Amino acid sequence: MPERKCIMKLKSRLESLAQNSFALPLIDCSPQQVFELLLILCRNLAYERPAPKGEKKLYYFSAEFLLGKLLSNNLLALGIYDEAKAVLSDLGLELSEIEDFEPEPSLGNGGLGRLAACFLDSIAALGLWGDGVGLNYHYGLFFQRFENHKQGEYPNPWIKPQSWLVETGLSFPVSFGSFTVNAQLKDISIPSAGTGLSNRLHLFDVEEPYPLPLSGIDFDKSDIPHCLTAFLYPDDSDEKGRLLRVYQQYFMVSAGAQLILKELDDKGFSPENLADHVSIQINDTHPSMLIPELIRLMVDRGLSMDSAIEQVRQSCAYTNHAILAEALEKWPLDFIETVAPQLVPIIQELDLRVKKAHPESPPIIDEDELVHMAYLDIHYGHSINGVAALHTDILKHTELAPFYSLYPEKFNNKTNGVSFRRWLEVCNPLLSGFITKRIGEGWKKDTSILTYLEDFVDDKDSLNELLAIKSENKRRLKQEIFRLQGAHLNENSVFDIQIKRFHEYKRQQMNALYVIYKYLEIKEGNLPPRPITVIFGGKAAPAYTMAKHIIHLILCLQSLIENDPAVSPWLQVLMVENYNVSKAELLIPACDISEQISLASKEASGTGNMKLMANGAITLGTMDGANVEIADLVGAENIYTFGKSSPQVIKLYAEESYEPLEFYHRSAIEPLVDFILSPELLAIGDPLALTALWKDLKHKDWFMSLLDLEDYIAAKEKALSDYENREAWAKKMLINIARSGFFSSDRSIAQYNEEIWQLC
Ligand SMILES: *Cc1c(COP(=O)(O)O)cnc(C)c1O
Repeated sequence: MPERKCIMKLKSRLESLAQNSFALPLIDCSPQQVFELLLILCRNLAYERPAPKGEKKLYYFSAEFLLGKLLSNNLLALGIYDEAKAVLSDLGLELSEIEDFEPEPSLGNGGLGRLAACFLDSIAALGLWGDGVGLNYHYGLFFQRFENHKQGEYPNPWIKPQSWLVETGLSFPVSFGSFTVNAQLKDISIPSAGTGLSNRLHLFDVEEPYPLPLSGIDFDKSDIPHCLTAFLYPDDSDEKGRLLRVYQQYFMVSAGAQLILKELDDKGFSPENLADHVSIQINDTHPSMLIPELIRLMVDRGLSMDSAIEQVRQSCAYTNHAILAEALEKWPLDFIETVAPQLVPIIQELDLRVKKAHPESPPIIDEDELVHMAYLDIHYGHSINGVAALHTDILKHTELAPFYSLYPEKFNNKTNGVSFRRWLEVCNPLLSGFITKRIGEGWKKDTSILTYLEDFVDDKDSLNELLAIKSENKRRLKQEIFRLQGAHLNENSVFDIQIKRFHEYKRQQMNALYVIYKYLEIKEGNLPPRPITVIFGGKAAPAYTMAKHIIHLILCLQSLIENDPAVSPWLQVLMVENYNVSKAELLIPACDISEQISLASKEASGTGNMKLMANGAITLGTMDGANVEIADLVGAENIYTFGKSSPQVIKLYAEESYEPLEFYHRSAIEPLVDFILSPELLAIGDPLALTALWKDLKHKDWFMSLLDLEDYIAAKEKALSDYENREAWAKKMLINIARSGFFSSDRSIAQYNEEIWQLC
């Protein structure tokens, strides 16, 4: 409990803010106004804090930062979380009600952006001096609404008159050949718990933002000076969208490079000392033009090409997030000529040097005049890291093998992590209390201590309490889902949850085929031991037709089952609308079975798997990404793995020998796939979309859902039957929580710092 004195101090600050902002006594402020007062207070407190000190500063460049709501995290970091709760309670309010007024910053797609947000949190928590650099998208990715069993896409404007953004007054001119746009710098503070310090997220914006589109998410992609920061990743299926992406990237890195050189100059150093004072992490290839841009600016400031290159090389490090070489960004040199002609001679020079020194290495500019962004990072940075052990291994020995033999010393692994402050302490207060009651507060600073929980693995009271907490979190989810979508969940059912972006490689379609399997079983009278609730959440990219067909199938199944009284008591499908960080915080504590079923070798790491593990969900997954490390940590009894291994899958691709028809014709599979075209589903859904999906599964199935389907069904059935031994299940939960500490982003960041940045 916080001291009364501290509560009164906070309250009086809010009283005077209330007078200043609304000319009202605090007690007369509406909940919305109380939220704004807390926001203003936190924003000011955080902004006034000094930055950490050091010789060297990190700049974490990312096209995405999926921050989530910030109020709770900031209250925690500022050390006034309990005090704020007490003041709110005096006013008859709950923190969760107040948070309803906080729009979620919509600055990311999914895992990659969320990783960047966890990393900022951990960089601050460890007291390291490091800022994020990105773009201030006004309408986010998009807001997802379901209409006629399909995904509808709407702008998601999140910037309100009172927001976490602080205008810095700084701006940097970014020259696009024939015109210049001034990049306005806006900051969001990233305060850290315990240190009294604060880092920043620097977001560049245009002076005059593009107006809110009247309908949908269409906008004029040629109005570059205004639309640069309208949406995150505009639909890039057409040439204009792809070109706009290059504009966005150059806008971010040119302004960012100028910011770096300005701060270096402010400290009294010149560009020839860049590497002593600056570390740069390039999160995936979106910010890769930073390398030639920095070199260009440093040469402009009088450095020789050789020393500019050397300084930049020693500063820059690159994180790879995509396994397939085909998934790595390649931009036509023409595009770069259009967007930033001043960059072309630099890129050509960098390419020429590689061609001379390493004629055997794949060139940066290939014979089709495509610029391979990752190759720029690999040749002209000092570190290349993958994001899970398996992923780094695949990079070294398959996708980036020629570079690994050239620069073995540059390659390293940094297994992803998540912030346990957000993903356990704040989102699951009951479990957090359970842990603290048994092992003390130490785990909040050092998650490796969670292993002490294993002392309780035979303690019946602890196991029962763990089950009771899960039930309570399921009830909380039930209430919220009813409030948000009007759907009724059965809290006594098993909650089987797959939440992530919709992508064929993540194989939501395979889970949908399981739903069909279970539906047909129940129709036959084979009832499960208890009702099952299969929950999905996630968005499909607006131009990704097949992913949208999969969403369509799931929404059709949801409706079919809901309206079938023979099945609905036993099986429910729920698609959560507009999956985002706030929804994740609600879903994750309530999950029993965590679906991590990507085709082996395709998911670089995953981070949802880690959050769910830490909240006592048991993983049902393939040996892919960080699932492999989860399996190593918890042992075979505490995870359900299935499916072909990564080497087997890689071999199938290499030999082009996977043939979905062979699997389709198996008696256990054909009825499931064909059910997609059953009269029942055709009566609900769009026959064209369902047929396209059916055909794809049967004839293409690029991500091999049918290959693993029978294995998947068997593994899931085993998990569901084991679930009935509640005590044994609770043990599995406890072991998963106890061994999840490795997946803290504090551990990831400590490794980045020790092995790549060396900040202090
Ligand atoms: C953690 C997270 C992700 C990443 O999930 P994966 O299962 O690793 O793909 C995506 N979106 C949100 C909102 C998240 O919180």
